[in-house]
Amino acid sequence: MDQVGVRLVDLHTHTNCSDGTFAPLKLINEAASLGLSAIAVTDHDTVAGLRPSLEVAAEKNLEVLPGIELSAEYDGSEIHILGYLIDYENKKLLKQLDILQKNRIERIYEMVEKLNGLELELKAEDVFSAFPDSIVGRLHVARVLLQRGLVSSTQEAFQKYIGDTCPAYVLGFKLSPKEAIQLIRESGGIPVLAHPYTIKSDTLLLELIKEGIMGLEAYYPEHSQAVTNFYLNLARENNLLVTGGSDFHGDGKPNVKMGCLKVYYELVDELKKARMKL
Ligand code: AMP
Ligand code: ZN
Ligand code: FE
Ligand code: FE
Repeated sequence: MDQVGVRLVDLHTHTNCSDGTFAPLKLINEAASLGLSAIAVTDHDTVAGLRPSLEVAAEKNLEVLPGIELSAEYDGSEIHILGYLIDYENKKLLKQLDILQKNRIERIYEMVEKLNGLELELKAEDVFSAFPDSIVGRLHVARVLLQRGLVSSTQEAFQKYIGDTCPAYVLGFKLSPKEAIQLIRESGGIPVLAHPYTIKSDTLLLELIKEGIMGLEAYYPEHSQAVTNFYLNLARENNLLVTGGSDFHGDGKPNVKMGCLKVYYELVDELKKARMKL
């Protein structure tokens, strides 16, 4: 049972506008029924879920932080940068998102070609037609493979085929982390490094800090207490904000429930204070 009067928030959630399975209405209802005070909606490379989420939340006693999770590429690896409290009507942001979304479509064709080379029968159009309203990514490919019985779980699809080091993985993101950071700042948002445990290089971590990352997602389901403490210390030493969230994807990641990782609302206050100073 949560303490009375303590306000808790989940600052990393996805809707079906990217690779979550919950539509904005369902996402907001879920957050409200869990008694969360706020959630951040942070879809991959799209802001399409923000307005509907904000509209529904306005009718409930729930705050929605408009966010995004931008995909960038560095030295052959995918880097995710969260943007909090963005102006989701910013023209430059929308223009860049359009490019990223086209990249993602192109990338599905390339991934499917590689999967075909591994004797897996599917077409890029199968992915697009299964998810006509979503900005597509690997989880969609995994779900189509599952529907076809070509894997027994989405997890297996990542383990065998499309995980970061697997044979059908395609990188293909055009932004550098620096560009992603700048784009978020120019859109009035706070750039935060998502799930920092995925960054294997300390040099890159320090580079991201130099390039203007303003926070670290120190609290993340995959982080052990020791890993969380490492990033909390790093944040303190470098005067960075701290965030945390579940990275909820609905049934796309069935083991990760909304609010399975909650943080204090005070972290939202810190984000807002930082935004005022931008
Ligand atoms: P993409 O942005 O297309 O590269 O896909 C990244 C998304 O794939 C993540 O946000 C997760 O939703 C999903 N993903 C990545 N690795 C795994 C994994 N090992 N198991 C399940 N889902 C994963
Ligand atoms: Zn995702
Ligand atoms: Fe991510
Ligand atoms: Fe995410």
